[in-house]
Amino acid sequence: MIERIIMKNIKDYNLEELKEELKLIGEKPYRAEQIFKWIYEEGVTSFEEMTNLSLELREKLKDIFNFHNYKIVKKQVSKDGTKKYLFDVLDGNMIETVLMEYHHGRTLCVSSQIGCKMGCKFCASTGINFIRNLTAGEIVEQVLAVQRDEKIKISNVVFMGIGEPLDNYDNVMRAIRILNHPKGCNIGARHISISTSGLVPRIYDLIEENIQCTLSISLHATTDEKRSSMMPINQSYPIEELIQACKVYNKKTNKRISFEYALAKDNNEHIEDAKRLVKLLQGLIAHVNLIPINKIENGTFDKASNENIIRFRDYLNEHGIVATIRRELGSDIDAACGQLRRKNIKK
Ligand code: SAH
Repeated sequence: MIERIIMKNIKDYNLEELKEELKLIGEKPYRAEQIFKWIYEEGVTSFEEMTNLSLELREKLKDIFNFHNYKIVKKQVSKDGTKKYLFDVLDGNMIETVLMEYHHGRTLCVSSQIGCKMGCKFCASTGINFIRNLTAGEIVEQVLAVQRDEKIKISNVVFMGIGEPLDNYDNVMRAIRILNHPKGCNIGARHISISTSGLVPRIYDLIEENIQCTLSISLHATTDEKRSSMMPINQSYPIEELIQACKVYNKKTNKRISFEYALAKDNNEHIEDAKRLVKLLQGLIAHVNLIPINKIENGTFDKASNENIIRFRDYLNEHGIVATIRRELGSDIDAACGQLRRKNIKK
């Protein structure tokens, strides 16, 4: 614990900052590039392995930095190949990370916080107390730990694990820049997605970042009454404000937005909902991702029938909105966000 407070996590640093840190201890800045190469290209987990650094320098670095390598508490493998990790972030807290294989590459769904404050009624992360934000290094380590374990290279990252990424804005942006950096994880910005429940002021901040990552909005409902009943955040930032921010995002970034819509039986699956959705998204560059809602333990929402989901999709497509149904992955291994942590958490 003391070590944790005093030592700096090397993965919290971007390349420029690491160069500065090295200058402070009288070392040449190019050493930072060598260290980055070892960590992000070679995937090493200690200074001992950095054989092009002198023994003396390795000892010096060991006194300042630690690696924060995660331990796998549990790994579950689904019949469809999806892998779900429960990691101990080294202070006794646990987070989840999910690896999914798609035809276009390997996508890692990462957590951004330990717990979540948003309180969405259908989400398994709800009801677990919010503990703290993850640091940038703790976010990046999810990618490195899975790459080590599976001996693979992650090609896509989605911030759809536990937590609200825009509620941990600075650390998430820092992590994205390390993930994206050619000397870091070298994952293309277009292959990194941020999913938000709709923190409107942070969406405006994101517009100013000038980064090509993808934005997903968890919309899930088309009236304030319904959306507020599913997602309390809607009381602070109602649909109209959210859609207005999306319009500005489209206009200023020229980027398409993904809208997530989880269909629940007798709740938001009606043709009337689809009609309102078409109206809401009018004029936006958007894509709708329809998700069969994943029923959580003691949850009040049941999955919509396949028939209704297809009907909903067809209605959107016929009215000029591009909509696809998200393939369900990992349903046999509690892959809905927060489920595994919820089961393993100390009561
Ligand atoms: N807080 C962020 C990211 C984490 S949730 C957000 O709200 O977007 C990632 C996605 O999973 C969101 O679209 C969320 O609404 C959705 N989700 C959460 N629980 C779900 C469930 N039980 N079934 C289907 N989708 C769910």
